[in-house]
Amino acid sequence: MDARLDGLREKLGQVADVQAAVALLEWDQETYMPPKGGPARGQQIATLSALAHRLFTDADLGNALRELEDRADQLESDDAKLVEETLYDYERAAKLPEAFVHELAGEQSKAFQAWAQAREESAFATFEPHLAKLIELLKHKADLLGYEGSPYNALLEDFERGMTADQLRGIFAGLVPRQSALARRIVESGRQPDTAWLEQDWDEESQWSFTLRVVEDMGYDLEAGRQDKAAHPFTTNFDLADVRITTRLDPRNPLSALSASMHEGGHALYEQGFQEKDRRTTLANAPSLGIHESQSRLWENLIGRSLPFWKRYGEVIRDHFPGQLDAVTPQQLFEAGNVVEPSLIRVDADECTYNLHVILRFELETALIEGDLDVADVPEAWNAKVKEYLGIEVPDDARGCLQDVHWSHGAIGYFPSYALGNLYASQLFEAILEAIPDLWDHVAAGEFAPLRDWLRSHVHQHGRRKLAREIVRDATGADPSPEPYLRYLETKFGTLYGV
Ligand code: ZN
Repeated sequence: MDARLDGLREKLGQVADVQAAVALLEWDQETYMPPKGGPARGQQIATLSALAHRLFTDADLGNALRELEDRADQLESDDAKLVEETLYDYERAAKLPEAFVHELAGEQSKAFQAWAQAREESAFATFEPHLAKLIELLKHKADLLGYEGSPYNALLEDFERGMTADQLRGIFAGLVPRQSALARRIVESGRQPDTAWLEQDWDEESQWSFTLRVVEDMGYDLEAGRQDKAAHPFTTNFDLADVRITTRLDPRNPLSALSASMHEGGHALYEQGFQEKDRRTTLANAPSLGIHESQSRLWENLIGRSLPFWKRYGEVIRDHFPGQLDAVTPQQLFEAGNVVEPSLIRVDADECTYNLHVILRFELETALIEGDLDVADVPEAWNAKVKEYLGIEVPDDARGCLQDVHWSHGAIGYFPSYALGNLYASQLFEAILEAIPDLWDHVAAGEFAPLRDWLRSHVHQHGRRKLAREIVRDATGADPSPEPYLRYLETKFGTLYGV
């Protein structure tokens, strides 16, 4: 036994336990906490987060990591990886002085409140000075962390490690013209499927049991997880045997809860698929948000919005809403989940236009961090890009540059992970179809084990042993590329709309 290594695992376990307690408090805050509990909950979370940070940045832990790193060649490969990944986190955390972390957290909290008010009033001016302050602090953060090329790279590292602004520009330059052109052809075709049958009342309990049935069929272990309601659905875990999802119910549209549950179910399968031996360590995590998002979007879109899926679940949903869907065919359910219509709000966007929303945010946030755009000019720049990419006018800031919470949290570099998730999902899916040629027959029979097993062995079990691009390259034989996603979009929507 290696005493140093045991000591490291013990310390990391303590950090993971405190972080799990924070996650549980946050989960409760979004699901069951009574409204007046908010202020005390904020303090509880701040105290425990600071405690976790202190435990993790402890000098003894740093010494143990460096000593282990020096003799990494004598360690088992998993142990060496654990040391390498933990040291990466440790050194990154150590670059940010506590006073700076504290100042940034304080500004984020003020900016979030100002953003909520600004959105309510649809007045960017209320948020503007706070965003300006955050951009200034984030530029400073980039300097503290260090970077090559763009300061944006230092911030992006928190979300998509190893990716750079220039690489993203290259990837997105291939996407924008073809995605915009496809959306334009669809709009100009003037065709839209008949979705009048959706205009009924959809019982919430039936929606609940239907979504649970689907995520259980996907392989989500409800003995090691649960589903609850939340205004903004999310997934969280406190251990691989306790991974929780949330969904939201729309009494006017049962497909909305289905998308949310399958999306979060995809995230949850990932987290239930980490290795037992990685429990309470750095390795039981995804290497990037983009790869995490590939798992949610693969289930939500590539499976849940496919015709084979509805060949099976058309019957299942009919049983859950007796008498409401007797005349509705799998083809109609498939079409209703794939209506393309350029719109103002990212979270409501269809697959065909979604990435365009993300890319315009990326372009604006890189310009802000690189000093090419003044904060005061954000609304004008936003509206111009929406017009250019989506062909629509933005009527007000609430439905424009104030719609997303991310910038108010200081989360610059987050948005690209949504688009990367779509790209990785399509690229992985082409490899899956090659490995499992009768996959669609399985899906049409409600059998997801072959798909889930492939994802377990090629993605989930690795945790942080590989970076996102290594996962994609090892699983597909190629570097991440926008081509598979464009092939998918052009084939699916080209056929659906005859364009
Ligand atoms: Zn997600």
